[in-house]
Amino acid sequence: MTHRYLLIDIEGVLVVDKSYRPVPGAVAWLNGLTERGISWCLVSNNTTHRPADLVADLQRAGFMVHDHQLVGALGTAVALLQERNCRRLGWLGAPALTPWWSEMGFELVPDTDEICDAVVLGVSPGLDLPQLDLAMARLRQGAALVCLHRNRFWLDADGRPRLGPGAMAAALEMAVPGLVTFTAGKPEPAVYHAALNSLGGNPAEALFISDDPFTDLVGARNLGMATAFVLSGKYSDREVLEELPPHLRPDLVLPGPDQL
Ligand SMILES: [Mg+2]
Repeated sequence: MTHRYLLIDIEGVLVVDKSYRPVPGAVAWLNGLTERGISWCLVSNNTTHRPADLVADLQRAGFMVHDHQLVGALGTAVALLQERNCRRLGWLGAPALTPWWSEMGFELVPDTDEICDAVVLGVSPGLDLPQLDLAMARLRQGAALVCLHRNRFWLDADGRPRLGPGAMAAALEMAVPGLVTFTAGKPEPAVYHAALNSLGGNPAEALFISDDPFTDLVGARNLGMATAFVLSGKYSDREVLEELPPHLRPDLVLPGPDQL
């Protein structure tokens, strides 16, 4: 199977988990793509690193990656929030990104304030119930819910599965009837289109490679891309695909990206 454009997930494909240790064989594989004449970019739902820090971490792990080769949920979230005139945000995510939101022109409201334009939900290692209660109060006051992505779970630096923003969003949606929710990252089309635009490619010539057959690969399939599921991340057994109807299952199942 040959495709001109390769769209690549990061965690579970290039690196094992939040420790950012490379998946065996992934460094040589990615660094060899350009030599093979394949255009590629990274399509990330990362919400714990500033984009520039994420690129730097990947470079430290040995990957030859540059800022322009990363497209992610944070970028589409900024566009989505600006379009909807959401400036005052309740940030329910990694503290490391707090200064980044300010740099991008948003105001993060303090925990004492129930009024904001949007509650923004990302991967949040220290998320606790009082924070979720505050988010519920803000949403009841009319704030929109912006999910940076809707992954079921994520793997922390010890490889431990942790509840993801998709699960948190489902809880908040249940608690606040009529809630308006927007999603910035995969599986929403905007981030895939941004990635293809950055390559000048079209879906029919693109292959998406990810360890998440539900969020990442269903989104890609729905836009007409070919899909490859790798067993080097969240799921080490292809049996998980039984949860998907046959037409949404990936075209390829591989032990790791270097088998492509
Ligand atoms: Mg992944």
